[in-house]
Amino acid sequence: MKPILVINSGSSSLKYQLIDMLTEEVLAQGLIERVSDHTVAFAHMLKEIASSELPLDALTPVAVGHRVVHGGNAFSQATVVTDDVLLRIHELSSLAPLHNPGNLAGIEAAIVAFPSIQHVAVFDTAFHQSLSPASYTYAIDTAVAAEHHIRRYGFHGTSHSYVASRTAEFLGRDLAELKIIVLHLGNGASACAIDGGRSVETSMGMTPLEGLVMGTRSGDLDPAILMYLSRVANYTPDQLDELLNRESGLVGLTGLGDMRDVYRASEAGDERATLALEVYAHRIRHYLGAYFALLGGLDAVVFTAGVGENSADVRSRVIAPLAHLGLTLDASRNDAPRTSEAGGARQISVTDAPVRVLVIPTNEELEIARQALALLEA
Ligand code: ADP
Repeated sequence: MKPILVINSGSSSLKYQLIDMLTEEVLAQGLIERVSDHTVAFAHMLKEIASSELPLDALTPVAVGHRVVHGGNAFSQATVVTDDVLLRIHELSSLAPLHNPGNLAGIEAAIVAFPSIQHVAVFDTAFHQSLSPASYTYAIDTAVAAEHHIRRYGFHGTSHSYVASRTAEFLGRDLAELKIIVLHLGNGASACAIDGGRSVETSMGMTPLEGLVMGTRSGDLDPAILMYLSRVANYTPDQLDELLNRESGLVGLTGLGDMRDVYRASEAGDERATLALEVYAHRIRHYLGAYFALLGGLDAVVFTAGVGENSADVRSRVIAPLAHLGLTLDASRNDAPRTSEAGGARQISVTDAPVRVLVIPTNEELEIARQALALLEA
């Protein structure tokens, strides 16, 4: 066995998976919530794993892979954790105050628990470090931007990179020759244009707020709305943060954050819910068209994450109007339930469509474990 422990540590939760990298089988997994002390949460996790009746060699991981949200400009790939790396992740907390401190607390607790094995940090931003200046530069005063590290970074990189590789595998093609748009539609959502395996454009920006309509985040809006609200209604920065990150998106439009509930409401005749579904799909199509133009060609559009993998109706709302771009769904393939064949990966476009439309389940934990293992063996 070659177990790798994958840790996704947030400010108040700890998610883990123990994966045997010889078979890529998940040996144990869990979620510990309402965490106030990460060392205590870690002890709790170790107890859970120990009580899961695994063979002894499964209980001694060869490495730990850690999800870290913001790697800024500093990290363009997975990196072995050193004191210097810990310091840099800490410094990047100003860019991701909701995420990096919780990630860091998890790494520190893990180092105490497993002091003699390698810890690897895998960054959500790393895959997008290939963005060109034309794509990552916001058109604001360059001195202000430079002083405050304001640029687009992009997120969900671990998922986009995993799904791109799986797409190549599924199509039996070389990733280096493919132009792909990945739509990661979960609670958070982002689109990514991938050319030859490299991210060339993505919808999240300096923070995960930009881009698509999400469960609780607004995605794109006119930034002047923020000044307007602070002037006419005295919104503070914290209140604006709350409004746009937690009270917008599907929640803002319908009062419901879960896509399944939005569907139920729409089917029951709630017009706000129906409008929300239209806004959601319209924004995705807007990005699809833009990315098709930027890529200068397109081999595949790939749906992934909770909504993308499970909602045939969202996929159909997005793709059905795009036949003029060479995207044509096969309704029965789109509606067919997921099977275990090819790990749930499937084509949902008609056989001869110029652009393939696929559903490929994402697996960020496995990708983190693979990247940790690759570093360990390098
Ligand atoms: P996270 O971003 O937290 O990892 P997921 O990728 O699990 O989230 O996606 C969660 C979203 O997926 C929720 O909005 C949920 O409603 C949606 N979802 C899950 N199953 C379905 C389904 N069968 N139909 C529509 N939406 C679904």
